[in-house]
This record gives sequence, C-alpha cells and structure tokens, in this order.
Amino acid sequence: RGPSREELLEGLNEPQRAAVVHEGAPLLVVAGAGSGKTRVLTRRIAWLISERRAHPGSILAITFTNKAAAEMKERVEDLVGKRARIMWVSTFHSACVRILRKEADKLGYKSNFSIYDAADQKRLMTLVCNDLDLDPRRYQPGALLHWVSNQKNELRDPEDATKDARNHLEETYAAAYTAYQRRLREANALDFDDLIMSTVHLFQAFPEVRETYRRRFRHVLIDEYQDTNHAQYALIHQLCADDPEQSDPDAERVEPAELMVVGDADQSIYAFRGANIRNILDFEQDFPNATSILLEQNYRSTQTILTAANSVIGHNKGRKEKRLWSDAGDGERIVGYVADDERDEARFVSEEIDKLTDEGAHRPGDVAVFYRTNAQSRVFEEVFIRTGMPYKVVGGVRFYERREVRDALAYLRMLVNPADQVSLRRILNTPKRGIGDRAVACVNALAERDRITFWEALRRAQDAPGLATRSLTQIQGFVAMVEELQSMVDAGERADVVLETVLARSGYLTWLEESDDPQDETRLENLAELVAVAREFAEDPLAGPSADPTDVEAGIVAPGLADFLERVALVADTDQIPDDDPEDSGVVTLMTLHTAKGLEFPVVFLTGLEDGVFPHARALGDQPELEEERRLAYVGVTRARERLYISRAVVRSAWGAPSHNPGSRFLDELPVDLVDWRRTEAAQTRWSRPDLSGGQRFGEPTAAGRRNFSAAAVRADAAARAKPAREIPSLEPGDRVLHDSFGLGTVVALEGAGEKSVASIDFGSEGVKRLLLRYAPVEKL
Ligand code: ATP
Ligand code: MG
Repeated sequence: RGPSREELLEGLNEPQRAAVVHEGAPLLVVAGAGSGKTRVLTRRIAWLISERRAHPGSILAITFTNKAAAEMKERVEDLVGKRARIMWVSTFHSACVRILRKEADKLGYKSNFSIYDAADQKRLMTLVCNDLDLDPRRYQPGALLHWVSNQKNELRDPEDATKDARNHLEETYAAAYTAYQRRLREANALDFDDLIMSTVHLFQAFPEVRETYRRRFRHVLIDEYQDTNHAQYALIHQLCADDPEQSDPDAERVEPAELMVVGDADQSIYAFRGANIRNILDFEQDFPNATSILLEQNYRSTQTILTAANSVIGHNKGRKEKRLWSDAGDGERIVGYVADDERDEARFVSEEIDKLTDEGAHRPGDVAVFYRTNAQSRVFEEVFIRTGMPYKVVGGVRFYERREVRDALAYLRMLVNPADQVSLRRILNTPKRGIGDRAVACVNALAERDRITFWEALRRAQDAPGLATRSLTQIQGFVAMVEELQSMVDAGERADVVLETVLARSGYLTWLEESDDPQDETRLENLAELVAVAREFAEDPLAGPSADPTDVEAGIVAPGLADFLERVALVADTDQIPDDDPEDSGVVTLMTLHTAKGLEFPVVFLTGLEDGVFPHARALGDQPELEEERRLAYVGVTRARERLYISRAVVRSAWGAPSHNPGSRFLDELPVDLVDWRRTEAAQTRWSRPDLSGGQRFGEPTAAGRRNFSAAAVRADAAARAKPAREIPSLEPGDRVLHDSFGLGTVVALEGAGEKSVASIDFGSEGVKRLLLRYAPVEKL
C-alpha cells in the first residue's frame, strides 16, 4: 500500500500541485529561488510511481550534484518505498557513464574506460604540447584545455574544429585538440566533457541505441535547467523530442518521454563552463506545445532577505520580472560590516557565530560562509582554528586530489585499465623502485617502434633497445606484481581488499611508514580513510547516487574495483558537505558561491563584497560577465533563511600585496533601510575605483591591482616591516604552526639556537620554507 494522493500533495500550493500532477506535454517550471522547484520535482517522481504507476526504471532525473541526487532519491524512497531504488537519479555525467559502460564498444572504447579529471587532463595536455613542440609561453595546457572543453560542450569534434580554424592560432588549437583526443583514446580514457559529447554522438550514430533509451525512459526530469550546456540540451532533445528519424519507419512509433524541467534564469552561473541561458529562455520554442508553470511564493527566506535579493537582481537587463514574495514575515535586518582587512573580516564572522550560538539561537551547523574564490577560505580557516570554531571547507584541496590518494587510485585504475598510461606512469616509480627516466625513455622507444601501448612495452622490456640490465630486472619485478594484482581484480575481488593488497604489495605503505616526514603520517591516515570508503562501497554498492539495482542483479555493478573507481571519479565538490548529524551541533560550512547552488542555511555570511573581488576583477568592464556575477550574488543572498550578514574589507592582501578595493557595487544595489551597518564611517569612505578593465585572466593579479597602492597601504606595509623582533617560539619537529602569509604548516626540522634558530616548515602547497624564527611571523598552535 503506497501513500495516498493527499499525502503526496501535502504541503504544496496550487501551482506546485499542478506541476506534480501534470500529464503529457513538456513542462517548464520557472520560478525564483526557494519557491519549491526541487521539492516539486521530487514529489512529481513519487507521484509518477505511486499514482500513475510508472515503473521506477522508466524514470530519469538529473540533478546538479551527486549529493543532491542522493538526497532526492532518499526522499522519494521515504515516500514510495524501496522499489524506487532502481530509478536513475543522477548528474548528467553519471547517467552518461552508465550508458557508455554498456555501449562503449560501439564507439571503439572498452567498457573499462578511465575517467580523467582536471589533473589527469593537464598531464595529458602537457604531453601533447611536448609532442607538438608548442611554445610553452604561447600555449598553456590550461588554456588549451579550456578551449577544448568549449568545443566539446558545443559538440564539436576535432574534425569540426580543424575544418573551421580561421587562423594559425586556431589551427594550432585544433591540432592540440586532435592530438589530445588521440591520446585519450589510446589510454582508453574519457574526460568529463567527453562523457556527454560521446553519449550524444552515440545516439546520433546509432538510432537503434537511442530508441532503446527512448523506450526505457518514459519520464525525464531535470533540476537547475538554467545551467545546462548545449551538449546536455542535445542529449535531452534526443530522448524527449518528437523523433522524425526512427531507424525502422515500419516499427511502432516511440512516443517521446514526458519531460519536466525546472529552473531559474536568474540563477544561471556556469556560463564559464558553457552553460547556455538560452536553453531555459527558449524552452517553449524548442519544445512546441510546452506548458509552463510559474511559482511565486518563496518558502525559504524572510521578506527582508527576499527584498534584498530582488533589489540586486533587478539591476540586470532584459530579464523577466518576477514577483517573489514570502509570508515568513520581515525577520531580522541584514547586518553589514566593513572590516579593516580580511583578517578582521574573519574575526567578525567568528565572533558573530559565537554570539549566535551562545544565545542558543543557532548551532554552528546552521551557518554558511560564502566567498567568491577558493583562495579566500584560508584566512577564515586560520582564524577559525585559532578561535576553536568547528568548520568544514567544501571544495578547495579535496580529499581525492591529495597526492597519496591520487597515487593509490592510479594503482587501481591502471589495474582495471592497463592502457591508462597517465596512471601507469604516475606509479611506475612510486615508491622509488629504480625505474628512472632513462629506463622509461627506452620503454617509450619500444612502444613507439612497435606501435604498442606503454604497458605492452613494459611487459616486453627485454626487447627495449639500450635498457640497462638492472632496470630490466626492476621492470620485470613490477610487471609480475601488477599481473598478480590484476588476477585478483579479474577474479572479482572486493575493492577494499584489492586496495589494501595494492598498498602493501607495492611497498607504498612501508615507504610512508619508514619516512620521518611528519606529513607522511597524515598521508597514512588519508589512505586509511580511502580504504574505509572502499569498504563501505564493497559492503553496500547500492548506497549512493549512481547505483542501479537492476545492474547489480544482472551482475553489472559489483562490489568490485571498476565500479568503485567510477563512483570515486564522479564525486563532485559539493558532495563533501558534511551530513547533518542531529546529535551533533554541526560545523560551519565554508564554500564558494558557485558550490552553494540549490542549498539553504539558516544563517549566511556573504563576504568579500568588494569591486575586484566580488564582482570579480575580470567582470568589471564587461556587461555580460557583470550580470553573471550579479546572478551569483542573487544565488548567495537567497541561500539564507533567517539571517544574512554582508561584509567587505577595506584592505585585502592578495598575491602578497595589500590592495584597497572599493565596496562592491552590489552593496549599492541593496535597499539602504534593510541593512544595519556596524561601522558606517569606514563604509562611507569610497576609494577610487581601480581600472581593471584590461581583460586579464581569472585569478591573475592585475597590473592595475598591483599599482593600486595608496599612501596608507604603503605606510601600513612599512609599519609591519619595522615591527620589533618577536619572542622566539619554542618549537619541535612535528609541531603545527600558523604563519601570517604561508598559513598552516608543520615543523620538519630545526637548526641553531636562541636568536639564530631556524626552522624548516612544510606549508603544504606553499612548499617547505626555512625561516629565521626571530623574525618569522609564526605562531605555535
Ligand atoms: P533554489 O532555486 O534555490 O534551487 P527551489 O525553488 O528548488 O530553490 P526548494 O529548495 O525546493 O526551492 O524549496 C525551498 C524551501 O522551501 C525548502 O526548505 C522547501 O522544503 C520549502 N518549501 C517548498 N515548498 C513549500 C510549501 N508549499 N510549503 C512549505 N515549505 C515549502
Ligand atoms: Mg532547487
């Protein structure tokens, strides 16, 4: 016995209900933030299964993150029970991987293909630049990859790019694209953009495959439709549009799936990844006879927060005016703070959170701190550590990007897919086993001469011209080890067991255990964590967003290694948000505005509201970019349910130099009477706007920014330098310290004594620094 109609429609207003029960024509739900779009989509799925008797396997729902998918699936299961488990609720990428695993051979891939992430892509593109002998000053792998990504999002393959190249620069880019794609293919690997493009190409080239999926998915539902790119749009179109080109004209016609998309054009913030706002604006043209439903009541925020959001976004041109209202009452006024510098800003945030928790009004877990770029998290982290504020950073250096985790995964990937040479080369001599660059060059030469993969060449290393006997012995030992491990994988051994064996057999664990670098202790902990992740997966491969029980029953998804790797490869930034444990008062969440999409928090701090920071310097002279930044501000403000804080710093040190940024223009766009400024005298000081319209790339210091020293900043700088030598902290190797500009570090070694003591400190990505403690601004933690 399923839920009753009343239960399924409970807690929905009229237009929301209409969207849930709608039948037939494509449906567009457009509405502002917090109006219940995601709630409607979730309920509709439950309705389809429970009331319209749709088979759960015939439902495809797309969300923006794996985490959102897992939550949606859980909610639907709560409503209609376990049988909902076999629906596909996932990101575009996960859905495409699942299709491609089954159909890869049609595209000339093996179904065990690897999925390359940004770091793998960069390594591969660097190889391509070497192959093509490109001038590294003119052609950077990052820029080439960005271009390639745009091509793929537009569904343009290397042939299209080559054909349309209009000048030497574009010809070179197209050549790099061609070579990059060839290398991916050789490695039996796909990058993220390929996942979508290849699925579209698959459907184009094999109408019968497309029809299989058109028959299967009778209901397609898409959240955050405003951020779909052209390739994703094409995919939806192939599944849901009227299909005039059926492969067999005499066969029974496949009716298009019922499509529902929900979104908000004002929240489109991924243009830099190819998202196309036209997809939502043109929906009614793209899908003739579409129905649209408008939602106008907001259930998330107080009226004060909504008015602020509406007022900011109202400055964008050419948008459809929306009347978003809330009956939650006015609530608290917005609190504004003008900080002296970024450290003062972080201190303010920390103190305010303390106040809120002391009053018992909120728990740390209710609070989110947003900023424009990842690098801004560091100061918050440092201050929070000092004040003992529990926190979690979403994004930034992610668990799966740490060196030891990547090494371990490279081992596993290479076992599943030996053609994956990025992984194979990564671990060939890690830990060191005497297979140096010269040996690698000899094996390479053999691979090229005999046109075999790098792995094949390793296996036939005895034929490699010029290979030293000692290296040959080492290589043969390595090959024997890998083959032994591969036989475990072939036998279907569990992912965690394989991982533990790999770490032991490869000597990786011993290498870390024997090291006296204190960082290696953390590395061991991270590997233990990875084993735990693998064990959890092996014990319940169904838990999580991309599991398909029909596949498990058919033996396609097993607790084995390949499926584990796939799960790991698809973990997105926002999937690291800590799950709320009701027992616990939770931790403050730090994240960029981009990762905050779709989420909500009772208390939100929107920080760094300065022209040149937010809006980003890149957008200052560019109308479309500025409008995109404004949408980002709209997303940020509308995440808040009860309290919103906004702040800016008068001086901010970026790239080591203090700069004065004027207040963000978005601040001027807020109604004055809604904001309670804590320090008005400083707020009124408007510094001259720097000219940052020079079109510099994201994240780079601008010449203008560097020139933008005011006399005050120079004085502040001089004062800092003239500071008297401080008390010398007594340190031991292994101690954790905080440095004013390098941040957190671990003491590795000490030399000298008294006034002359020098410490070597490992600051992670900043490197190991030798510092004279008498002067170095370090503090022992
Ligand atoms: P965003 O644009 O930010 O993605 P959204 O439109 O998807 O927002 P939801 O996240 O679905 O909005 O809903 C916002 C909040 O309002 C949620 O906490 C949700 O549970 C609540 N909500 C939605 N509809 C109703 C309703 N009819 N009655 C009470 N609460 C509702
Ligand atoms: Mg939503």
